[in-house]
Amino acid sequence: MLKKSILLFVALLSWALFACAEEPPALYQLSTIQALLAGHYDGVASVGGLKKYGDLGLGTFDRLDGEMVVLDGQVYQVLADGQVRVAPDNLGTPFATVAFAQPTIIREIGPFATLAELERTLDALLPSANLFYAVRVEGRFGALKTRSVPPQRKPYPKLIEVVKTQAVFEFRDIAGTLVGFRSPEFAKGMTVPGYHLHFIDATRAKGGHLLDCAAAGVRVEITVLPRWLVDLPEHDGAAALPKADDEELRKVEK
Ligand code: ZN
Repeated sequence: MLKKSILLFVALLSWALFACAEEPPALYQLSTIQALLAGHYDGVASVGGLKKYGDLGLGTFDRLDGEMVVLDGQVYQVLADGQVRVAPDNLGTPFATVAFAQPTIIREIGPFATLAELERTLDALLPSANLFYAVRVEGRFGALKTRSVPPQRKPYPKLIEVVKTQAVFEFRDIAGTLVGFRSPEFAKGMTVPGYHLHFIDATRAKGGHLLDCAAAGVRVEITVLPRWLVDLPEHDGAAALPKADDEELRKVEK
């Protein structure tokens, strides 16, 4: 009897492992960048709910209250005054992208003097420009620039108006981690094409949406994401929203 139970248990375990191995890693995203650009800042899901889909990622919070950094399953909120706190599970989010880190491309790279230079170096490590990638970059940065945004009141202004009031933070010689994604050009409108990275320092006290960085050397871990899962918001549907022009997206995210 015991033998039979053990056999059954082993069979179930093998099946479970097989089922997990079958599922390729996915980029999960809540809502669309288009909806966020248009000013949909009300939370449409919770931080706790987001954790089911990934342990690494980025986004923002209800009313656009700061920048979200997801690292090792912990969700951090970088507020516009520069303070960082652990976001409670019941806090809402209007837009976020996460994935489970399962890196297969691991390298030491550097030096680089700008974010553009880092991006070119990362690009050279990727097998294709037409897949999604989760990116984790760890190290000590000689210089690093981030931003965060203050919470908004209704009627919500468009994101392009909000970023005019963004807080910019400049750091020197700071250890920490960049987390985010590289998305294909064809994903424009749904998410930010190219790289979108957020930063959190090693003491989990500073961070934000990455604007620029330089480092002598860093460790890079890249997870290839051949699947893309999107939860569309039920408000008025991002698909129905007018297409933002490229200029607008570039001004807001770069
Ligand atoms: Zn961002």
